[in-house]
Amino acid sequence: MSYCELLEPCPFFNDELANKPGMSAMYKMNYCRGDYKSCARYMVSKELGKEKVPVDLYPNMCERAKKIIQDSK
Ligand code: SF4
Repeated sequence: MSYCELLEPCPFFNDELANKPGMSAMYKMNYCRGDYKSCARYMVSKELGKEKVPVDLYPNMCERAKKIIQDSK
């Protein structure tokens, strides 16, 4: 199984989900250790660089990710 290479530096779990262990585990299983290429944070990071990823962008917010990418072009 492949893991998202952004997992270690991904600030999402340290900040947004620090107090939500249940959600954190679910996102990690579904995205970080699963279908990470569908992760909204991964998409923005790959297209624009990780400094452009909003801290409150959740992995399932694909539409928002696409808009961020589109707006930057
Ligand atoms: S939240 Fe997204 S970018 Fe961050 S580690 Fe998980 S899959 Fe990678």
